Amino acid sequence: MLKKIPLHTQIIIGLVLGLVVGLVIVKFGFDPYIILNFVKPIGTVFINSLKMIAMPLVFASLVIGVSNLGDVSKLSRIGGKTLSAYLVTTIIAVSIGLLLVNIFKPGESLPQSTRDSLMSLYDGAAGSRAEQAEKVNSQGPLQPLIDIVPDNIFLAATNNGSMLQVVFFAIIVGIALLQIPKEKANNFTSFFDAFNDVIIKIVEYIMLIAPYGVFALMASLIIEIAGDDPDSAVELLLALLKYTLVVLGGLFLVIFGVYSMILKSFTKIPFITFLKAFRPAMLLGFSTSSSNATLPVTMKIVEEEMGVSEQISSFVLPLGATVNMNGTSLYQAVAAVFIAQALGMDLSISQQLTIVLTATLAAIGSAGVPGAGLIMLIIVLEAIGVPGAGIALIIAPDRILDMFRTVVNITGDAVVCVAVASTEGELPSGMIRQTNPFTPNEEVTES
Ligand code: ASP
Repeated sequence: MLKKIPLHTQIIIGLVLGLVVGLVIVKFGFDPYIILNFVKPIGTVFINSLKMIAMPLVFASLVIGVSNLGDVSKLSRIGGKTLSAYLVTTIIAVSIGLLLVNIFKPGESLPQSTRDSLMSLYDGAAGSRAEQAEKVNSQGPLQPLIDIVPDNIFLAATNNGSMLQVVFFAIIVGIALLQIPKEKANNFTSFFDAFNDVIIKIVEYIMLIAPYGVFALMASLIIEIAGDDPDSAVELLLALLKYTLVVLGGLFLVIFGVYSMILKSFTKIPFITFLKAFRPAMLLGFSTSSSNATLPVTMKIVEEEMGVSEQISSFVLPLGATVNMNGTSLYQAVAAVFIAQALGMDLSISQQLTIVLTATLAAIGSAGVPGAGLIMLIIVLEAIGVPGAGIALIIAPDRILDMFRTVVNITGDAVVCVAVASTEGELPSGMIRQTNPFTPNEEVTES
């Protein structure tokens, strides 16, 4: 029965049912014991299994991705295009965020009493986040760039938050492979080639539990946000609604303005067709709040539905999941100005330009894991002289915004990937292949 329903529909059903069950339990004061102890673990198992394969996938696919490019000149051409596209889209996203937050000034509409109670309510949480960011921040705004080089690659590989270091190492390994004799390099690459395929196969297994995992994540999230005070989640979300709407409006503009324009300029793929094919990844990004966890699915769709070669996708996408965070950078710009406005601080033009620079760096340095953007936001705040503890103001809606910005982050990676593939002469007809990546033999009728 369930097999007949397409995967993305199953995920939507899981998501909506999870929301409904969570809200009903909170609203009617039912005991959440079953959900928290017997349902939530399914969500945790689901996320853990995705994270489990993220690190090996990033390493294997980048080594293969770089070495498959054939020679260093192709690497610098595709690498150059990819990195410039990532940088330009990030700066555009930050600028959109700045523009909107300066026009709508959400921070100035926050009543003093709400500000005070939020500050005290979340002081502890903000403090611990501040501590986490302190280490990076005390060493200056360029620390994210310095952190790229690991002092111990095995140590870096045991921590999903150090993905950027593994990306760096994998690229170096790939470049070295291009420069040693072919016969020797082949032994190495064919192993990782098979390894990559094994991981993609495992993704198919994991996707079997996706709808249940998403249900469990949503139901337990709602219950945990509400905490002991059933109305608190709703109240806080209402108080911060304007700020939330500005972030969401900006994210919407990035997807429907910037991304659709990039697709239109560089490919023949209609934007709607792209979105339809990319839906399962967007839903996963939304429910896991993690670019890294979504990466295997992003890669599978871009390759199997959009027809991008593994050569390009296995280089562009793992890199993007780690460094390209358009949604996060936009959110950091809006949040920084919002906090300054709420605290009654006026920001000069040079402070706003500092936001463009630091939000870009902070987004590059943010790991593709839940909540990373919030921690790195402190770097932006400190750079413009706004107290880092000010993040207490925006912690309440952050979990929800994280879900939306992650969707933008992964969509940006896929759009750039398709555009780069197109400029390399792939996808000449602009047609998306009509197969569903999770049921490869099944024809999908929509175009
Ligand atoms: N959760 C985001 C991601 O994985 C990062 C962030 O903004 O917190 O893409």
